Amino acid sequence: DNILLDVRNLKKYFYKDEGLISKKVQEIKAVDNVSFYIRKGETLGLVGESGCGKTTVGRTVMRLYEPTAGEIYYDGIDVAKLSPKSFMPYRKKIQMIFQDPYASLNPRMTVADIIGEPLDIHRLASGKERQERIFELLKRVGLRKNHANRYPHEFSGGQRQRIGIARALSVMPELIICDEPISALDVSVQAQIVNMMEDLQREIGLTYLFIAHDLSMVRHISNRVGVMYLGSLMEVTTADELYNNPQHPYTIALLSSIPIPNPRAEKKNIILEGDVPSPLNPPSGCRFRTRCRYAKKVCSEVTPELRNLGSEHYAACHLL
Ligand code: SF4
Repeated sequence: DNILLDVRNLKKYFYKDEGLISKKVQEIKAVDNVSFYIRKGETLGLVGESGCGKTTVGRTVMRLYEPTAGEIYYDGIDVAKLSPKSFMPYRKKIQMIFQDPYASLNPRMTVADIIGEPLDIHRLASGKERQERIFELLKRVGLRKNHANRYPHEFSGGQRQRIGIARALSVMPELIICDEPISALDVSVQAQIVNMMEDLQREIGLTYLFIAHDLSMVRHISNRVGVMYLGSLMEVTTADELYNNPQHPYTIALLSSIPIPNPRAEKKNIILEGDVPSPLNPPSGCRFRTRCRYAKKVCSEVTPELRNLGSEHYAACHLL
């Protein structure tokens, strides 16, 4: 029902040579069997500690990385299988905004050229029309016409992120993959950017995949939230359900570390101990088992599948 992006059993493995003498190649399962969907006009938050594969999911959906296996249905078409040329139209429909807007903006280009570049690449507008579009985009993201001829270093972090968003919007995308767009910003600026993104979503009907490392960052903007750990999706459900009724031990541990706005809600607490194991040598079975206080024998033998616990609540755990 109205699903824009439907990712099924997505895998992205990277390979690394161990050295000149040993011919062995190490396999890194950055994304291993991840499935989720996003409805039109909805925001799916994707959360996890660094190295959990959330950014790789975003980049693979955009085909910045080629998927190792799995399907990526966009509006019913499996775009994972398309040739680079056939994928071109989707390059316009799917745009990305980045964590560090400064690094993603060319310092030698004016704001007008940064925002206008996608218009040139996709041959969408030229001359006066192009200029009008750029002014309109600046206005949409809360910047002014006279910002057009300035350079990225003249702006604050929040303003740079606005430029990055204007650039993404220039080709009138449907889906925006937001890769930690507010993590590098001051807390006060974070709220401004999130509010603006919500306004844009309502006005233009955008769909977001919103990647963050912290559950408190996605709470406000997400309709549903997915939690990743070491390349796998552990739990995905509506934002309300995830924050009020988490089921997976890892989600409960993540939530235990952030203050909860409703003190009357009964809260289970699990303190997360130990480090994330190396993705080069992940635990067998459930990848969370080395840090899970409920781990049983079966957890090391069988990888738990993401199961439907009812009404859009999915979790991967043998306990449930
Ligand atoms: Fe813990 Fe086992 Fe559930 Fe994994 S499957 S989260 S180890 S109880």
